[in-house]
Amino acid sequence: MQIVADLHIHSHYSRATSKDLTLEHLWKWAQIKGVTVVATGDIAHPGWFAEIQEKLETAEPGLFRLKAELAAKMAEEVPPTCRSEVRFLLGGEVSNIYKRHGKTRKVHNLIFAPDLETVARIQTRLERIGNIRADGRPILGLDSRDLLELVLEIDPRCHFIPAHIWTPWFAMLGSMSGFDSVEECFGDLTPYIFALETGLSSDPPMNWRVSNLDRYTLVSNSDAHSPQKLAREATLFDCELSYDALFAAMKSGDPATFKGTIEFFPEEGKYHVDGHRKCGVRWHPQTTLAHGGVCPVCGKEVTVGVLHRVERLADRPEGGRPARTHPYLSLVPLPELLAELYETGENSRRVQQEYWKLLGKLGPELTILREASLEAIAAAGGEALAQGIVAWHKELAPAGDTTCVFRDSAFADDVAKTNLAAILEQHGIANVRSL
Ligand SMILES: [Zn+2]
Ligand SMILES: [Zn+2]
Ligand SMILES: [Zn+2]
Repeated sequence: MQIVADLHIHSHYSRATSKDLTLEHLWKWAQIKGVTVVATGDIAHPGWFAEIQEKLETAEPGLFRLKAELAAKMAEEVPPTCRSEVRFLLGGEVSNIYKRHGKTRKVHNLIFAPDLETVARIQTRLERIGNIRADGRPILGLDSRDLLELVLEIDPRCHFIPAHIWTPWFAMLGSMSGFDSVEECFGDLTPYIFALETGLSSDPPMNWRVSNLDRYTLVSNSDAHSPQKLAREATLFDCELSYDALFAAMKSGDPATFKGTIEFFPEEGKYHVDGHRKCGVRWHPQTTLAHGGVCPVCGKEVTVGVLHRVERLADRPEGGRPARTHPYLSLVPLPELLAELYETGENSRRVQQEYWKLLGKLGPELTILREASLEAIAAAGGEALAQGIVAWHKELAPAGDTTCVFRDSAFADDVAKTNLAAILEQHGIANVRSL
C-alpha cells in the first residue's frame, strides 16, 4: 500500500515544543496532513514511554494505533474528508555530544525499536549513561558509534538514522561540530548505516553531489516541534504496513517499495545559507569567502550553512547525480501558500478559515498539494491558488510552461525566509508572476 511516513517528530517532553504534542493530537494532525505512519518521537523518555504504553495498542507487527476510546473523543476535530487510519512507530532522537579526534562533536541521531520491551531495555541502558528525564531528546555524552552499537546489541531489529545530516551545529556532516564522512563518524559500524535524513535545509540534488553518500537511501521527515508542522517533509513508501517492511524498503532502496521524499525548498530551511540571524547577515558561500568568513556586524565568524558545507564536501558539479536516485517533490505547506496568496500571516483568521474550508472540500493537505486537480482546487479555493499548486504538479514539465502566481514577501534580514517567487524561479518554475 501507499504510505506517507513521518519518522522524526518530538513529544511535549522535548525542549521548545508545543504542549499539544500528545498522541491524540498527533493522531488528529496525521490525518489532517495525510500521514499514515508517524513516529512516536522521544522513545528515550520514561514519561513519554508511559503515555505510549497507556494510550497505544498493538496493530500490525511493530506498529501501534491510538486506543479506540481516545480516538473517539478526538474524531470530531478531524474533517470527514480527512479521516483515515494512523499508525505509530517507535522512534526518537538522541543528541550525542562527545570528543572525537580531539574535537567536540555534536550529532543528532534517530533510533527505532520494533517493540515496547526493546524501548524499555534501551531506556535502562541509556539511564546509566546520562539524564534521560530532563528532555525528550536527551543529551548524552556518548559517541554516535557507541549509541549505534548499544541499540544493535539490545536488538538487531533496532535501526539507526543520522538526523538532518547537514545542519551546522548538531549533525553528522555539520560544519561546526560534525565529521567529513559517515565513515569518520561511525568507523567499523558504518555498514549498519543505510539511510540518511537530509533535513529541511538540503534536498536530494544537493546530497547527490557527494559521491560518498551514494549508497545511502535519503529520507525526509518533519522534525516537528508542534503537530501543525507534521509532514512538512516526509518519506513515501509502497509496501506492507509493518515496521520490518518500512525498514526493508529504506535498506534496499528498491524503487518498487521506496518511493522517495517530500521536500521543503531548502532555501526555506533555517540553515541553508551562511550568516548570523540576529545580525541580519545572510550570505551565499561566495560572499562569505569574500569577507573572509567574518560577520561585519559582530566581528565573529559566521555560521557556515548547508549550501556552503555541501560545496566543500562535493565531488560532483552542480546537477551531478549518482546512478541510483529516488524521486522527490518539493512542496510549500498549504498554510504558507495561503499566507502568500492573501498577503497575511499563516495564523491569521483568513488563512485558517481558508485552510479548513479547503480540507473540508478536498481532503488532507498532502492530497491537495500532490494530487488534487486544477479544477477541483479552483472550485474550492479560487483560480490563483489552483495555478500556484498545480505549478508543483508540473515541476518536471519542460521549463517555460508553468505559471505560478504569488505575492512577494521577502524579509531581507531574516535568515530563515526568502522570497518565494525567487525560490520558485531558482527551481526552474519559470513565469513566476508576483501579484
Ligand atoms: Zn535534531
Ligand atoms: Zn528533532
Ligand atoms: Zn554577527
